[in-house]
Amino acid sequence: MNTPVLVLNANYAPLNVCTTRRAMGLLLVEKAMIVSNGRGVIRTSSRTFLRPSVIRLGYMVKLPRPRVKLTKREILQRDDYTCQYCGRRGPGLTIDHIVPRHSGGAKSWTNLVTACQDCNRKKGGQSAHEARMQPYRQPSEPPATAAYLYRRHLKTNQEWVVFVEGW
Ligand SMILES: [Zn+2]
Repeated sequence: MNTPVLVLNANYAPLNVCTTRRAMGLLLVEKAMIVSNGRGVIRTSSRTFLRPSVIRLGYMVKLPRPRVKLTKREILQRDDYTCQYCGRRGPGLTIDHIVPRHSGGAKSWTNLVTACQDCNRKKGGQSAHEARMQPYRQPSEPPATAAYLYRRHLKTNQEWVVFVEGW
């Protein structure tokens, strides 16, 4: 019942991901309809329900444009789990402040990059410029497209791809 279900807005824009339990609740009170199933059925003592994979709300929900949360995991993913100074790939990767905190470097998409422990140690308390270590890619905030936001679900839920593309 905790299997993720993709929730679409009334206009088919991807809205969020919820649990199967929550999706069943929305379907039961007819606030949503099934768009894609194919996951078999859920049986209760008296009834059998199709197990949803994608549902669509019967009404429009207005939300501000989503943004990607600034977290360690998101920075690692943005940088493809690759040290931005030497190209080494994880595990054991850290997050480096290009301009160190003590020099006023911000906790921001443009100042945080993935670095391996060796590079982080080598760079020490210096800025990337002082250490003559330039990140491979100019870091920036990832676009909060549906494909980016839900990418970790797409491998295991191939049927979601058509609903997520282009938003
Ligand atoms: Zn490195």
